[in-house]
Amino acid sequence: TGINFDKYDDIPVEASGHDVPEAVTEFTSPPLDDHLLSNISLAGYKNPTPVQKYSIPIVMGGRDLMACAQTGSGKTGGFLFPILSQSFLQGPSQNQAAPQQASGGYGYRSRKATPTALVLAPTRELVSQIFDEARKFAYRSWVRPCVVYGGADIGSQLRQIERGCDLLVATPGRLVDLIERGRISLANIKYLVLDEADRMLDMGFEPQIRRIVEGEDMPKTENRQTLMFSATFPRDIQMLARDFLRDYIFLSVGRVGS
Ligand code: ADP
Ligand code: MG
Repeated sequence: TGINFDKYDDIPVEASGHDVPEAVTEFTSPPLDDHLLSNISLAGYKNPTPVQKYSIPIVMGGRDLMACAQTGSGKTGGFLFPILSQSFLQGPSQNQAAPQQASGGYGYRSRKATPTALVLAPTRELVSQIFDEARKFAYRSWVRPCVVYGGADIGSQLRQIERGCDLLVATPGRLVDLIERGRISLANIKYLVLDEADRMLDMGFEPQIRRIVEGEDMPKTENRQTLMFSATFPRDIQMLARDFLRDYIFLSVGRVGS
């Protein structure tokens, strides 16, 4: 909060792809949901950062996105704001179609979590930061954010997702584990975000990422919206973008390495 992004206003932004929507200049145009706007203002954010100015109309327009931007450019809001805004408007009914799975067999039924938004990031620290932001901006809404990561007790994470999980922030390894245990279904995913994609590949997560994104129950590219964020755009990220995104808009913010 209190960060002055005005000095970043001349950060060069390049957008390519077909029918790129015009960038917004304020949070109020095109209208983000009113409740989200009040949460944004509670957080002390006055104006969108350059990446947010572009990503908000792109995501609200239903398009896939590949965004390359340096650290600190406000990428988290860039995906959370449009996802939360649209989720608030659509309401929780979208999540009721999910079949309730009975499992266990020892006299208890455990609820299978069916999030509508999934954010993948490489480390416990990063997923925790994204989760904190999600909680802040989902404040007093129906959207229940959850976070799971490896190297921590799975029991408390299971109890957390059982209480309800609409927006899941996860590291790839722990998510694969929960899917294999039958505790999370991705069949209802409408928004899939890969944050810090280059770091996830550097850390060797490509097999887990492919299991998640190319798995049985994940909706196909035309039935979900996929957003990828990366500081760099090397060949392996280009291949993921080719495989996971559909008719995407490419955004490059500031100086981007490859
Ligand atoms: P990135 O993921 O690109 O590294 P973050 O999303 O973590 O960047 O944002 C960096 C910092 O800027 C965070 O502390 C965040 O709260 C703050 N921030 C993001 N967007 C805005 C905004 N529109 N106005 C003010 N502060 C912002
Ligand atoms: Mg980030």
